[in-house]
Amino acid sequence: MTTTASEITYRLEQKRRVQADFPGPKSIALTERRKAVVAAGVASSVPVYVADADGGIIHDVDGNSFIDLGSGIAVTSVGASDPAVVGAVKEAVEHFTHTCFMITPYESYVALAEQLNRLTPGDHEKRTVLFNSGAEAVENAIKVARLATGRDAVVAFDHAYHGRTNLTMALTAKAMPYKAGPAGSFGPFAPEVYRVPMNYPYREENPAITGEEAAKRAITMIEKQIGGESVAAIIIEPIQGEGGFIVPAEGFLPALAGWAKEKGIVFIADEVQSGFCRTGEWFAVNHEGVVPDIIAMAKGIAGGMPLSAITGRADLLDAVHPGGLGGTYGGNPVACAAALAAIGSMEEYDLAGRARHIEELATGRLRELQAKLAGAGSAVIGDIRGRGAMLAIELVHAGTKEPNPELTRNVVAACLNEGVIILTCGTYGNVIRLLPPLVITDELLIDGLDVLARAIKAHA
Ligand SMILES: *Cc1c(COP(=O)(O)O)cnc(C)c1O
Repeated sequence: MTTTASEITYRLEQKRRVQADFPGPKSIALTERRKAVVAAGVASSVPVYVADADGGIIHDVDGNSFIDLGSGIAVTSVGASDPAVVGAVKEAVEHFTHTCFMITPYESYVALAEQLNRLTPGDHEKRTVLFNSGAEAVENAIKVARLATGRDAVVAFDHAYHGRTNLTMALTAKAMPYKAGPAGSFGPFAPEVYRVPMNYPYREENPAITGEEAAKRAITMIEKQIGGESVAAIIIEPIQGEGGFIVPAEGFLPALAGWAKEKGIVFIADEVQSGFCRTGEWFAVNHEGVVPDIIAMAKGIAGGMPLSAITGRADLLDAVHPGGLGGTYGGNPVACAAALAAIGSMEEYDLAGRARHIEELATGRLRELQAKLAGAGSAVIGDIRGRGAMLAIELVHAGTKEPNPELTRNVVAACLNEGVIILTCGTYGNVIRLLPPLVITDELLIDGLDVLARAIKAHA
């Protein structure tokens, strides 16, 4: 039986309250200080500074409280100050902050590897390595795949996002702002990265294309342009994140994974955003029973502490010589303690079940809104999609499929004005994404969704 958020206790009142003229004086002063010292390339979408956060609420330094529908980009699934995580961090940090696992190892790293081997799909023999960021996990998954296969080519997809380091920028499909901007490009990029078409059901030229057919289209391109025997790895987000919360049609992922297996290609699932109960399962690949050779994890893994991991087939991971993998901070003991506690909270509160409940609650309301708008002659909600608490609405010019990034910006700004933090994504900048903490109360979520509905109606 699904645990309800009412069984979770909160330190801060779960209520939205913003002054009409925020940002307040303290946030404005901090913005001024920041401008003088922080590089302009790091942008923030909300102009207030955080003082406290708990459950689905963020307090700023001027006393405003916001509903958090972004979880710091799918990170704080258990909340930003889950008591179990906070307790585990305090306990760990009082003993040692760091020793470096490559020098003097400690138990929490081993215990977390045990948990990840247990939770990730497949009952084959597995091995795990811990790192700091999602990009670092992706880089290492590819490092392992190349060494283990002795091949160079890596296949990524349209609309993919895999990070901001050199190799992961190469894997990422979107130019602005990740690979280039008005002042130039961040390249040259890593070689031997090939891009093939994704299955984007809402925007397929042939809307009847099946998942299997879309996979065949990608496979044919790989065979023609690279040759299956030259490919080290196929890397894919089972539900694409920054690219627009694109959920491929049923059959797409299994067909790709099946073909990769036939060709000795390492199938890497980048579950950095979709993992850890976010989609209503521990991992998004579970929805179709796909078992990746390597899975990359980060974001939701450690209740907000910086930690990432790859877990994969023992024969692949153990193909790498001792010393070939690692990093100074990888699997930091405080972050490991946080991850173990976050996993504990996910199990205790059945947060996968909570994610499914959030899906039901939110999609019902969004579909109603979509129908209402269409009935009133302003069909601006082109598509509603996603799984669990990883949901998106794609905004278009009424009655067409033409992306509407202006409307998207206006809606997000209107929501923020009312005290609701909402993120956008999508190759065309026209997707509103909902990534609430999984511990959000129904009341708060409904309040946030009502604000969103009013904003869309007002600007449609
Ligand atoms: C965020 C993200 C990354 C990069 O993670 P960082 O921790 O920002 O390096 C990689 N892949 C996916 C799917 C992501 O959503």
